[in-house]
Amino acid sequence: MYAEVRNVTQLSPTLLRVSLEGGTLDQFAGTTATDGYINARFVPESSPITVPFGPEDLEGLPPEHRPRPRRFTIRRWNEAERILDIDFVAHGDVGYAGSWAQRAKPGDRLQFDGPGGSYRPRSDVDWHLMVGDESALGAIGASLEALDASARALVFVLVDGPDHEIDLPSAAAAEIVWLHRATSDDPEQLLVDAVRAANFPDGSFDVFVHGEAGEVRAVRKHLIADRDVDVANESISPYWRRKHTDEDWRAVKRQFLAEQARD
Ligand SMILES: Cc1cc2nc3c(=O)[nH]c(=O)nc-3n(C[C@H](O)[C@H](O)[C@H](O)COP(=O)(O)OP(=O)(O)OC[C@H]3O[C@@H](n4cnc5c(N)ncnc54)[C@H](O)[C@@H]3O)c2cc1C
Repeated sequence: MYAEVRNVTQLSPTLLRVSLEGGTLDQFAGTTATDGYINARFVPESSPITVPFGPEDLEGLPPEHRPRPRRFTIRRWNEAERILDIDFVAHGDVGYAGSWAQRAKPGDRLQFDGPGGSYRPRSDVDWHLMVGDESALGAIGASLEALDASARALVFVLVDGPDHEIDLPSAAAAEIVWLHRATSDDPEQLLVDAVRAANFPDGSFDVFVHGEAGEVRAVRKHLIADRDVDVANESISPYWRRKHTDEDWRAVKRQFLAEQARD
């Protein structure tokens, strides 16, 4: 399926909300998962193909012109108006997806499949732990919005600096702890150090941890070793890997996860 850019909203210096409409969105199913995502296909700028494309259009296409698959979280699906919001990290003039979002203008088209997704805050726990960087803000934002006024959440978000913090509305009692790379000597340790230092509320909790692979792994390891969390039942996984394109990351991800399983 495909949709067209309706508008782009700058949420922070490095976060862009792209709202999609039209195309074949009337067939979009939506999902109850709050980490729901689409598998989008980003067409390199130099490629001769246009959206929508089918398998026949890719036949014989050289690798540099082939669409690149990337997953992106559904920040909000407005079923009544059939508008799909996705929050893209603008992480510089590299790659395909982030740079597509930075160039995006009304009428541009994006092709995708989905949705997938599996996490939604559970109703049978006393509180919710959510941890991530900018790439997880779509899922964390959707999860916080899904909580009702009786819920409680402790949330850690890693961003560049104070001007990168965004509104995360929730009916719940949500404590949001913003962590800033710009003022840290060791930004890759910020998430795990903050979670380690936190006084967790009493009672049972569920866990959502997503973002950069090394940072997610460190938080996961801490939760197993020091917080007695059975991670098999929780939503903890890496969304991207520093210094790796998504293709490079997918090539080593299985091995990374196998090693992580021994933590
Ligand atoms: C299920 C799922 C949901 C996701 N949801 C979102 C989402 O809602 N929003 C979002 O922005 N991302 C999301 N991601 C992550 C996104 O798919 C990756 O960041 C992807 O690599 C971006 O592709 P690209 O073409 O822009 O960069 P690539 O070509 O993959 O990478 C180019 C370079 O940029 C670096 N890079 C990639 N991502 C980042 C980043 N976030 N910050 C800093 N450097 C980066 C890479 O390490 C590499 O060096 C999600 C991933 C998964 C698996």
